[in-house]
Amino acid sequence: MSGIEGKVVVITGASSGIGEATARLLSERGARVVLGARRTEKLESIASAINREGGQARFRAVDVTKREDVDSFIEFAAREFGRVDVIVNNAGVMPLSPLEETKVDEWDRMIDVNIRGVLHGIAAGLPRMRAQGSGQFINMASIGAHTVSPTAAVYCATKFAVRAISEGLRQEVGGDIRVTVVSPGVTESELAESISDASAREVMRGYRQISISPYAIARAVAFAIDQPDDVDTSEIIVRPTASPY
Ligand code: NDP
Repeated sequence: MSGIEGKVVVITGASSGIGEATARLLSERGARVVLGARRTEKLESIASAINREGGQARFRAVDVTKREDVDSFIEFAAREFGRVDVIVNNAGVMPLSPLEETKVDEWDRMIDVNIRGVLHGIAAGLPRMRAQGSGQFINMASIGAHTVSPTAAVYCATKFAVRAISEGLRQEVGGDIRVTVVSPGVTESELAESISDASAREVMRGYRQISISPYAIARAVAFAIDQPDDVDTSEIIVRPTASPY
C-alpha cells in the first residue's frame, strides 16, 4: 500500500490548473479527495469525472479569504470521510502590475487569497491534525517565492510569505505533522488570466510560452505525500527544463 492510498486530501483552488490536476492524480493513486473553490459548476464536473472513474471525490464551495468558509470546508471533509490527512493550500491569484499603477485592490486580493487563504487553511486544519496525531500541509508557493521581478513585487511578497509561514509551521509542529512547500515554475493554467494591466499581460504572454503541465506539479505533491511519516519533504521547486526562470 502506498503512502497515498486511503488518505483524505483536501485541496483548495481545485476548479482548474494545478489544483484540478492534483485532485485527479491523487485520486488515481487511491486518495479520497475533497475539492474546494468558488466555481462549483467546475468542481462538480471534476468530482463527477473522478467518481465515474472509480475514485472518491466530494466538493464544496469555499472562498479562502473567509475564515468561516474554510472552517466549514475542512469540517465538511472530515464529516464526509472521517478524517483529514492532508490539506493542499493551493488557491492563488496573480494580477501582476507595476507598483506605480497603484492597483491597491489587486494587491489586497493577492494578500487575501495567497496569504490569508493559506493561514485560514492552517487555522482550520491544525487543531484537527494535532488531535489525530498526524497530518500534512502542502502549501503552494512559486518560483516567485525565491526571486522577484518587475510587476511581480506583491505577488512575490505573498509567495515569500507562504514560504516563511510554512517554515515557521514546520519548526513548530514537527513530530506529528509534516509541512511541504511546493514552488512551481511556469505551469499551464488559468493563472495569468487575472492580469488586468496591459503591459504586465504582454510580458507574461512571452514568459509563459515555455510551460509545463499541471500534472508535473501534481506529481511533486504526490511525492511529498507518499514519503514515510518520518520523512518531511519540506521544499520542492518544479520548473520547465527549457526556461531560465
Ligand atoms: P488557476 O488560476 O488555474 O487556479 C487557481 C485556483 O484558485 C482556481 O481553482 C480558483 O478557483 C482558486 N481561487 C482563486 N481565488 C479563490 C478564492 N478566493 N477562494 C477559493 N479559491 C480561489 O492557477 P494555478 O493552477 O496555476 O494556481 C494554483 C497555485 O499555483 C496558485 O497558488 C499559484 O499562485 C501557484 N503557482 C502557479 C504557477 C503557474 O505558472 N501556473 C507558478 C507558480 C505558482 P475559483 O476561481 O473557482 O475560486
